[in-house]
Amino acid sequence: MRAKKFSINTLKETPSEAELVSHRLMIRAGLIKKTASGIYSWMPLGLRVLRKIEAIIRDEMNISGALEVLLPAIQPAELWKESGRWNQYDEGLLLKLTDRHERDFCFGPTHEEVITDLARSELRSHRQLPVNFYQIQTKFRDETRPRFGVLRAREFIMKDAYSFHANKESLEETYWKMHSTYTTILKRMGLEFRPVEADGGSIGGSASTEFHVLAESGEDLIAFSSESDYAANIELAEAVSPEIEADKFMQLEKVATPKKRSIEQISEFLNVPVEKTVKTILVKGVASKLVGLALRGDHRLSTVKAEKISEVATPLTLASESEIRNQIGCGPGSIGPTQTEIPIYVDRSAASIKNFIAGANEDDYHLRNLNWERDVDVSATVDLREVREGDPSPDGKGEIRLKRGIEVGHIFQLGDKYSKSLKATVLDEKGQNIHLEMGCYGMGVTRLAGAIIEQNHDKSGIIWPNNVAPFDLVIIPINAGKSKAVYDKAEDLYTTFLKNDCDVIIDDREDVRPGAKFNEWELIGVPHRIVVGEKGLAKNKVEYRARNLMNTLEISVEDALRIIL
Ligand code: ATP
Ligand code: MG
Repeated sequence: MRAKKFSINTLKETPSEAELVSHRLMIRAGLIKKTASGIYSWMPLGLRVLRKIEAIIRDEMNISGALEVLLPAIQPAELWKESGRWNQYDEGLLLKLTDRHERDFCFGPTHEEVITDLARSELRSHRQLPVNFYQIQTKFRDETRPRFGVLRAREFIMKDAYSFHANKESLEETYWKMHSTYTTILKRMGLEFRPVEADGGSIGGSASTEFHVLAESGEDLIAFSSESDYAANIELAEAVSPEIEADKFMQLEKVATPKKRSIEQISEFLNVPVEKTVKTILVKGVASKLVGLALRGDHRLSTVKAEKISEVATPLTLASESEIRNQIGCGPGSIGPTQTEIPIYVDRSAASIKNFIAGANEDDYHLRNLNWERDVDVSATVDLREVREGDPSPDGKGEIRLKRGIEVGHIFQLGDKYSKSLKATVLDEKGQNIHLEMGCYGMGVTRLAGAIIEQNHDKSGIIWPNNVAPFDLVIIPINAGKSKAVYDKAEDLYTTFLKNDCDVIIDDREDVRPGAKFNEWELIGVPHRIVVGEKGLAKNKVEYRARNLMNTLEISVEDALRIIL
């Protein structure tokens, strides 16, 4: 490729609306252009990256034995009504359309309905199974807050795959095959990532795994073990039960705590560590009753874990101050677990302490030396809190560490959820109709481009890993217009690299100064750069620079070929 004929449009200014580094760099390097909120055009340079990402995904999906299809982007409402998702799919995300005959459609945010419809007509016998169909296609989700450029867009490209099976064992087998395919794909892109348990997993092993690229800017917080492969979303990571303290019960006392409301104030005023205090959070219950959730004063409630309690209403809603006053007769700063009308669920860690402090259900009073067994009517002891850095890992190996991640992939064992609602069956060995078992496997193609940059950049710009760079190498001749030697050597090198299957671009633009070219290519992040100049050529040398090292070497042409090819 020749830069003269290729659109290179870098920007000096930082776009004001871009909060994240990947978003800023993608716009500044001219990879994407915003067309509307959450909707982007991919420019020639950006598209080269996207195509390389797609090629790696396609390659590994084909190796896994999956079959590529292309399903329609526009999907009939009937299928979504059959699955029950037309009015239920994550509120508002579905972009609904009507055609000239007043028929309803949506722009596909995902393709379970369409593929299950295809499966019920194409798959007749267990002999056709297992089968895994995949596609790489544009999706639309009308996100409430599109942000971070291509990381959370409304229109984006996803690789989605759907597998069909005669039984759960076969589903699990393909699920783990996809698990390892995803691992290979992300490794080939040079990413630091973690497969993260996204659900407790009721069907043998993990029923859902998210693949997270580790990055400070990630929207999710991941808990992982310092010593094993264990990793889970913080909301779900199990907080292990500590040993029950061995202390003897002490005399229960009511103590005045005037105007002390927060746990920190109480702990300081009564001179007890926060670890010996319990806070009781009142939330709405299913039967419009209140439910109490008791945690150690220094622990944070996990919304996801709380919502797993069947008596708790979802989404989790805190009781209002007036509801608390009406029911308990005190303000939120003095609630305790000792009242009897409200069911009390105690977190495992809180349940392990003895002689603790908690509110007395009376304004400005607390109780000292409370003990669960003696003083509280506990409904159940459950895992309710978020794990913290340093907690023991639930698999018994190492400690919990926390890091932020960007979800780039998500694989699920769906079971017969869609095959039941859409009545997709096949004949088994005995000639009986059985519902298909189904798995689905998503990967964010456009999101990956942003995630790769979040992990690979410096103050000068992007540092593309070799396999996904828009070009492998840029050759910059200095003053080629004036020096025939430079021109000839640069052209000669360009042809040699081309012949050796190197994705090379020669920057033959005459109206751009060398310094400006250097800055542009550093911003764009091409892994290798060769500068051909008269001074070097006199010694039969060229200047070589690797984008990730940024030190310049004077080397022979032969060495340059050896390093790059
Ligand atoms: P998120 O939790 O980030 O909203 P999701 O769980 O809704 O994503 P899935 O339905 O699991 O997403 O979709 C599979 C993959 O598609 C995700 O792992 C992600 O890489 C990608 N993806 C989902 N939503 C977006 C989006 N708005 N912009 C870009 N990529 C997306
Ligand atoms: Mg997901």
